[in-house]
Amino acid sequence: MLQLVDICKDYKNGHRALNNINFNVERGEFVFIVGASGAGKSTLIKLLLKEENATSGRIILDNREITHLKQKEIPYLRRNMGVVFQDFRLLPNKTVYENVAFAMEIIEQHPKQIRRQVPMVLAMVGLSERAEHYPHQLSGGEQQRVSLARAIVNNPQLLICDEPTGNLDPNTSKDIMEKLNDINYRGTTIIMATHAREIVDDAQKRVITLSNGEIISDQQKGGYNYED
Ligand code: ADP
Repeated sequence: MLQLVDICKDYKNGHRALNNINFNVERGEFVFIVGASGAGKSTLIKLLLKEENATSGRIILDNREITHLKQKEIPYLRRNMGVVFQDFRLLPNKTVYENVAFAMEIIEQHPKQIRRQVPMVLAMVGLSERAEHYPHQLSGGEQQRVSLARAIVNNPQLLICDEPTGNLDPNTSKDIMEKLNDINYRGTTIIMATHAREIVDDAQKRVITLSNGEIISDQQKGGYNYED
């Protein structure tokens, strides 16, 4: 479903953050992107989210080239892509329910559909009881579960996670990983950038390791195989 072909990314200061990146992701895969700080993980995620453009190479999603999209085409791309960040990025003045509903409102889903879908995803992440709470009334793990619910509420084919457990303790991280596994099991493809060695080693999934902007290994059922 996703192909990266000879991707290079140079920042404006001339720094090459990614060099000749090539990999494919099949529908339904769960792929970890690991590597030391500065390896290029965030840059890779930004290219997928179209927050940055590649300097050269091609990105193909569902047989459609997305390397260079017009600004007005980006919202359509995002419809098929859920995102989870390390710092949750919830709207502080909206309740849990409203945070999740908002993701549907901005793509103009029917109110009836919203009323049906939001409680369903909140139940999926175990937050039905928290629907009327505000983010500041929740633990970090609960906030991340809200952001998971928001990321999947529009049934994206691809879920991109940038250090989703970076602000969480080990037990809470485990809980988030269980939820991500559930989501993956239901058919959503997941790409997750992480530093969390234990999670990667436990998961026994595909691991792409970056170093200095290059892929140094790409292993099925891999582990966390570099030293920080
Ligand atoms: P990671 O997420 O693995 O820590 P990044 O993708 O953030 O790595 O960074 C890769 C490299 O690109 C680093 O050397 C970083 O300093 C550099 N870099 C990141 N963002 C920018 C930017 N906006 N301008 C210039 N260099 C950047």
